[in-house]
Amino acid sequence: MSDIIQLLPDHVANQIAAGEVVQRPASVVKELLENSIDAGATNIKLLLKDAGKALIQVIDNGKGMSETDARLSFERHATSKIRTAEDLFNLQTKGFRGEALASIAAIAHIELKTKLDLQELGTHIKIEGSEITLQEVVSTPTGTSLSVKNLFYNIPARRNFLKSNQVETRHIIDEFQRVALVHPTISFSLYHNDNEVYRLNASNLRQRIVAILGKKTNERLVPVNEDTDVVQLTGFVTKPEFVKKKRGEQFFFVNDRFIKNSYLNHAVNSAFEDLILPGNYPSYFLYLTVPPNTIDINIHPTKTEVKFDNEKVLYAIIRATVKHSLGQYNVSPVLDFNRDAGLDTPYNFKDKKVSKAPQITIDRDFNPFKSDEQKSISFPYKREQKQDWESLYVDIKTPEIDIKNIEVQSELIETELFDAKESISKTHQIHRKYIVSSIKSGIVFINQNLAHQRILYEEYLTHITVNDAMSQQLLFPLDINLSKDDILLIKELRSDIESTGFLFDKIEDEKIVVSGIPVAINESQVISVLEQLLEDIKNEIPETSFSQIDIMAKSMAKSLAIKNGKTLNVEEQESLVEDLFSCKEPNHSPFGRPTFISMELNEIDKKFDL
Ligand code: ADP
Ligand code: MG
Repeated sequence: MSDIIQLLPDHVANQIAAGEVVQRPASVVKELLENSIDAGATNIKLLLKDAGKALIQVIDNGKGMSETDARLSFERHATSKIRTAEDLFNLQTKGFRGEALASIAAIAHIELKTKLDLQELGTHIKIEGSEITLQEVVSTPTGTSLSVKNLFYNIPARRNFLKSNQVETRHIIDEFQRVALVHPTISFSLYHNDNEVYRLNASNLRQRIVAILGKKTNERLVPVNEDTDVVQLTGFVTKPEFVKKKRGEQFFFVNDRFIKNSYLNHAVNSAFEDLILPGNYPSYFLYLTVPPNTIDINIHPTKTEVKFDNEKVLYAIIRATVKHSLGQYNVSPVLDFNRDAGLDTPYNFKDKKVSKAPQITIDRDFNPFKSDEQKSISFPYKREQKQDWESLYVDIKTPEIDIKNIEVQSELIETELFDAKESISKTHQIHRKYIVSSIKSGIVFINQNLAHQRILYEEYLTHITVNDAMSQQLLFPLDINLSKDDILLIKELRSDIESTGFLFDKIEDEKIVVSGIPVAINESQVISVLEQLLEDIKNEIPETSFSQIDIMAKSMAKSLAIKNGKTLNVEEQESLVEDLFSCKEPNHSPFGRPTFISMELNEIDKKFDL
């Protein structure tokens, strides 16, 4: 019998390999995005048609390829990223197998345009069924644009196996998010059928998380940081009160790759035990950096499962660090807001008659070197003296805060605050931006602008949601000229925008006629408030109609909040403080900045060596 073994032709081998590398459009997206990142891109654009089934195009401003490299990149095992087996243990790049492009080219139509920085002209290549069908020079920007069309065109079984557009798009968005969450300093955009789905500007990690998961996320994040010899751990977890019923927002990244690891996932969940009810899941974004030689990322072709050398140690570190962060978060809100009248600045002190002069008796016999017992008895400031001081203030009246439907969200803070029933009433404005008030445990500094943003935000949110925003009729309607896309936006969101109190008489091609405005603003502010509103809506991810409302409330709050630098009289200060602490979430501005800071008495004491 003759020999029957043959070497498979390349395109067949590639098709087989493609089965492993490319399961669905999302796999192509992942490979192309990772290639762009490896190429040093700072701006990456992803265009999709038909959930990636018709087109996946990635345009980057990375280093591009030479003509030869452009051809070679589609060969199997062609990679610029490793040279020797040792390199495998010290990977600095996402790719290294050199098979992604070869695999994709075996099952789709490819069009590549690429140019190196110093070249005048670039290379244009088209490939069908692993064959180059066109190659020419082309004028194209530095970087690479790679289009993958008609995925699985030559494997009908695979094509038919793909899920609905909705499901495939979801998979793509998952991959996109995972990549974008690791590279906040790279700008990413995503367009589906010419509609912008994401535009993520270069930012820091917190901003990137918020840009992807929505502005609400900001105030929910608790930072996690730990640096050990085994692992450097950074990122965020969400506060226990914001846990979800679904596991969707759980992200582990190891050395800048998204990974799944149920063991480490358990470590995070267990740090939350006792804090959340069963069936709820914390969201987390945890970034582990470990020495490359302590992990094996080679374990799975799509590389989401990673094996660690020292999983047990990692488990312990992750659990302890997350617990610690949560503890800190839980501790810090327990600023004791119960007021101790004895520590208050007597606001109307000068009008008071001092009934009895405070006495300070000093124990002249005090000798710190005497026995312990003696020391404690002869402590120079005796207990009764403090009571004398207190008696000075007991009859100073403090008005009560009206506790309006407080919804328990930042539970700790609110209960601590309002249990007291003694309001924070005595206020001083300093430097025309901070309101200072004393509380039992020390002193708070409230920033007038950020606090007012919070107050207005919650106010608008309620008004817009229940649609009862007050509008003031203008005697003379205002004509405002706007760009076409702004007009388009107003048309789309007219009822939402009108629910803030704006009333549009006419919406024309490039002009609107405003006949009513929110009561909180005056005519001279109309244009700036409206423009800011449109800008903020545009910069936001189109999600649910709720988030639209959220954006508008934030935008108006930002535009209209009392600015720093404005002098506030006592009534204004007091009502600001009162309104702030009647908010559902008084401790943060709508954009997640603190509205106040506090200083504990013992911190102050320490500074005086008391
Ligand atoms: P790998 O990423 O594992 O090296 P790929 O098949 O994904 O393998 O890519 C092959 C090679 O093509 C890469 O090593 C790189 O040199 C080059 N390449 C791919 N995409 C790009 C890109 N967007 N910009 C520059 N070079 C690229
Ligand atoms: Mg690659």
